Amino acid sequence: MSHQSFFASVERNFDKAAQHTGLPQGLLEQIKVCNAVYQIKFPVKIGDEYHVIEAYRVQHSHHRLPTKGGIRYALSVNQDEVMALAALMTYKCAIVDVPFGGAKGGVKINPRAYSEFELEKITRRYTTELIRKNFIGPGIDVPAPDYGTGAREMAWIVDTYQTFKHGDIDSAGCVTGKPVSQNGIRGRAEATGRGVFYGLREVCSFKEDMAKVGLEPGIEGKTMVIQGLGNVGYHTARISINEGGVKLIGVAEYEGAIVKEDGIDIEALMTHRRETGSILDFPGAKNLPKREDALELECDILVPAALENQIHAGNASRIKAKIIGEAANGPVTADAEDTLLKKGIIIVPDMYINAGGVTVSYFEWLKNLSHMRFGRMEKRFNANTYENLVSTVERLTGKVIGPKERSVLTRGADEIDLVNSGLEETMIEAYRQIRDVYISYDKITDLRTAAFVSALNKISSDYMALGIFP
Ligand code: NAD
Repeated sequence: MSHQSFFASVERNFDKAAQHTGLPQGLLEQIKVCNAVYQIKFPVKIGDEYHVIEAYRVQHSHHRLPTKGGIRYALSVNQDEVMALAALMTYKCAIVDVPFGGAKGGVKINPRAYSEFELEKITRRYTTELIRKNFIGPGIDVPAPDYGTGAREMAWIVDTYQTFKHGDIDSAGCVTGKPVSQNGIRGRAEATGRGVFYGLREVCSFKEDMAKVGLEPGIEGKTMVIQGLGNVGYHTARISINEGGVKLIGVAEYEGAIVKEDGIDIEALMTHRRETGSILDFPGAKNLPKREDALELECDILVPAALENQIHAGNASRIKAKIIGEAANGPVTADAEDTLLKKGIIIVPDMYINAGGVTVSYFEWLKNLSHMRFGRMEKRFNANTYENLVSTVERLTGKVIGPKERSVLTRGADEIDLVNSGLEETMIEAYRQIRDVYISYDKITDLRTAAFVSALNKISSDYMALGIFP
C-alpha cells in the first residue's frame, strides 16, 4: 500500500490541470492553498478515564461562504487527509454549481470502539469546540456526514449548536444530513449513491466513449464490483441494480471479499451480513483469499466506496475494470492513475461522481433557510391542473383512461420527487460540462483533469468577480 501524501496527490492533480487554464500564477496559488486549519485536542471522560481526542476542521476555500464538507470518524484521520478532503470539496462544489467553499472535519477515533453514549459525548464536545472558534454556523461552515458518521451524529451536532445559539432562526442550517424528523431532507441518506448511479449512467450513455473501452452504450447489463458497503456503496449498489439493471458480481468489505458471476442480490447480502456478521460464505458466492482481490476482478465498472489510496502503484497494473467510478474520495493515487490511464481505463473522478451528497445537502440547507418543505406550496395546485387537463382530454376525445395511468399523470411533486429531480439534473449537467472540456481541449486526455479545469474556470471567475484578482 502506498503512503503518498493524499494532499500532495490532490495538489499534483491540480497542477496537471492548472497548466491548461492560462490563469495567473498568484490566483492559482490562492485557489490551491487551505485558507484555515483548526487542530483541536480535547478531553472526554470515558468510564473512569479521560481520553484525549485529536480532531480537525479545515476550511479550504473562503471564496464562497458558507464552507461545506463532511465530518469523518476514523483512526486514520490526520491533518494531511482532512486538508486533501477539504480541497476536494472546493472543486466538487464548483463542478456541481453548489455555491459553497470546501471544508472537511475529522475526529481521530475508531467509532466501533465507543458506545453510543460515548460517541454522543465526543460529538457534542467536538461541536462545542467548533462553536467556540466560530467554525460552524449556517452562514459560516456547514458540516455533513462522511465515513464513520451519519444522521445520528448530525442530530447531536444541531442540538448542541441550538443549545448555544438559542433564538437563531436559521440554526437548523448549521449542519446537513440530519434525520428528516430533525429538519433533514428526504433523499439525503441515499443521495451520494444515487448521484453515483446517475453519473455512471450518463458516462455510459456516450456511444463513442464506450466504444473506446470495448463496451456497448447504456448502463443496463454492465457488471459492477463495489468496495465498501457503507452509506455510499450500499445505495450505489441498490439503485444501480434496481433502476439501472446493473449486475453486481463482486463485493469487498472489511472482513473479506466475495464474487458471484450470476449477480448478487444486495438485500439478501445485507441480511446475511447482519445475521452472520460477515459478507463471507454468502450462498452461491465464492470467498476471495484477500479483501483487496475484489479490486482486481474482471468487470465493466469498479466502484471503490471505502477509503482513499486503495488503488496504488502496487496493484494498478492488475486492475481489469473498464471504468472506475470513484465513489470514495481519493481511492486512486496519482501514481496509480498514470498506469490506469495508459491501460485506457476511464476514471470518473471523485470530485464529480460522489458530488450527489453535497448537492442534496445544499437542498437541505435551502430548505432550512426557507423554513418550509419543498413542494408544499405547489403540489396540490399542480395536481389539480393535471387533473383538469386529463379530464379535458377525456371529454374532447370521448375516451377514459384507467385509474393507474390517471394517478401517474395527475400527481403533484413531493419533496423526494423534487430532490431526486434536482440531483439527476445536476449530475447530468455537470458531466456534460466536464465532457465538453475533455473534448474541446486537445491536450486534456483524462476526465479528472477536465473536471479540475471545469472547476478552476468557475472558481477563478468568482475571485475575479470579488475584485481580488483583476
Ligand atoms: P461508511 O462509513 O458509511 O462506509 C464505508 C464502508 O467501507 C464501511 O462499511 C467499512 O467497513 C468499509 N471499508 C473500510 N475499509 C475497507 C476496505 N479496506 N475494504 C472494504 N471495505 C472497507 O462511509 P461512507 O459515508 O459510505 O463513505 C465512503 C467514502 O465515500 C469515503 O471516502 C467518503 O469520503 C466518501 N463520500 C461520502 C459521502 C457521504 O455522503 N457519506 C459523500 C461523498 C463522498
